[in-house]
Amino acid sequence: MRVVSGQTAVREQLADLLTDESRYIEGVPDKVFFPESDSDIRSAVETANRENRRITLIGARTGITGGSVPVDGCIAISFSSMNRILHVIPEGSDTALLECEPGITLKEIETYLKNPEGKRFFYPPDPTETGAQLGGTVATNASGARSYRYGPTRAHIEAVSVVLASGETATIKRGSFVSRNEALALVTDQGTTYLIPLPSIQQGPVKNAAGYFIKPGMDLIDLFIGSEGTLAIFSSITIRVRKEPHFLSGLTFFPSRKAAFSFADFLRKEQQVCAIEYFDSTAISLLAEHRKELSIALPDFPPKSNAAILWEFFEDDVILFEDRVERWESAMKECGSSIDATWAGFDEEGSARLREFRHAVPELVNNAIARTKTRFPIVRKVSSDAAVPLERFPSVFNEQIRVIKQSGLHYVVFGHLGDGHLHFNFIPGDDREMAQALQIYDQLMAIAILNNGTVSAEHGIGKLKKAYLQKMFGEESIGKMKEIRLILDPQARLNPGNLFD
Ligand SMILES: Cc1cc2nc3c(=O)[nH]c(=O)nc-3n(C[C@H](O)[C@H](O)[C@H](O)COP(=O)(O)OP(=O)(O)OC[C@H]3O[C@@H](n4cnc5c(N)ncnc54)[C@H](O)[C@@H]3O)c2cc1C
Repeated sequence: MRVVSGQTAVREQLADLLTDESRYIEGVPDKVFFPESDSDIRSAVETANRENRRITLIGARTGITGGSVPVDGCIAISFSSMNRILHVIPEGSDTALLECEPGITLKEIETYLKNPEGKRFFYPPDPTETGAQLGGTVATNASGARSYRYGPTRAHIEAVSVVLASGETATIKRGSFVSRNEALALVTDQGTTYLIPLPSIQQGPVKNAAGYFIKPGMDLIDLFIGSEGTLAIFSSITIRVRKEPHFLSGLTFFPSRKAAFSFADFLRKEQQVCAIEYFDSTAISLLAEHRKELSIALPDFPPKSNAAILWEFFEDDVILFEDRVERWESAMKECGSSIDATWAGFDEEGSARLREFRHAVPELVNNAIARTKTRFPIVRKVSSDAAVPLERFPSVFNEQIRVIKQSGLHYVVFGHLGDGHLHFNFIPGDDREMAQALQIYDQLMAIAILNNGTVSAEHGIGKLKKAYLQKMFGEESIGKMKEIRLILDPQARLNPGNLFD
């Protein structure tokens, strides 16, 4: 296994590993391990225990909360050399299980599934950033456009093998341990039983990636999914892939936000819709301005394009898109749009163009932040990931936009309108605007909490959003989550600084 030792060597050879897409920087590891197997992960953990060092787990660093940003003097474990598919287990004609190493990227899984060998199966969670590693997405319970229909990562994980802070190992299969008497039990391969009492913690009705998943009657595996590397290290992950239906997508442009939101209301009532993604005028302007930086040429936007909805529909043997076109067309017209103002993603070229459109928006925001950071080092990404129950979404959104507009800051809005989960991204131009963006961010989180929402619906808490997690759950519930952590990791060695202080 490759190991880079000493802070100078790490700084010189592995500078990229010191931050993630948030551009937040904390410290420099003393050693970085690149395991190639679960026994390599165990030996990195044993080294940390022997040297009494903390451990930071590093995925593809596409996270935007500083979750994989190393703490000073730690042992860092990067999973980039663990990217194999270990086993493929067919389950009949409609689904199959894939046991993967944690460092495999979503792109690599997609490429495998598109091969004849992959039999045109697909892995339903589709976070926009396909460079993310499976381990990182399971640690954050990532979600994507299709989560509107298929749910977040959690819904597609069948088993995980873990290495605990003690160096012990365990394999947790879904359904093999469901909580009884408000407790979960984890039995390691070495024979230790960890009994984990489950506190009663109020978790709201919205899509959520903030804090530990805790529910009566829950499955043990769900405690680990979304725990942001604070409970265990994933050494292998078994995902369930499904037979790919015929997906049809389109990007429809609207004259106003209100018109686009009305079309989303229509789509929510339609069958077989699997994604309803929104792009504000701010996102469309950003794309227009940076058109030349995109990897795929985009056509001119239709006239009066002040908002857009990227939708996806899947056909089955019974319902074809053809049968819906008339109804959809008249709904578009009622909302001031049309089929002519829609870019179709019905073939490979069209859908690649829509994928580029969707991926480019957050990417361009990140690039703008990176450019400003060269002149103003404290500038970093400030992006909201809050969600509220759908019935409260319209009024909460209006309140949030009012607060942002008053600030005069440069911002971009896009996201998962189907779930009432939009991202507000600030692009601060200097230190003063950075401070202002953080103040506005505080207000956005307060509005979400007040409305029974979450401070993170998909990106997680990492190191940057701890204060909001505390506000969302309150001190007592956070204390109970910390107790769970200390049962499995008494020294709080794994991913220190994530979730809790
Ligand atoms: C352009 C862009 C678009 C994005 N779009 C989305 C989106 O649509 N939906 C979404 O949810 N997110 C999105 N993200 C955020 C990011 O891609 C996700 O948070 C992703 O899950 C991070 O994966 P990663 O491999 O990069 O992990 P990292 O960022 O490297 O790490 C994330 C967390 O996982 C932990 N971790 C990594 N590997 C392991 C392991 N083996 N065991 C235990 N813990 C581990 C890390 O310590 C850290 O806490 C986007 C990011 C970008 C840059």
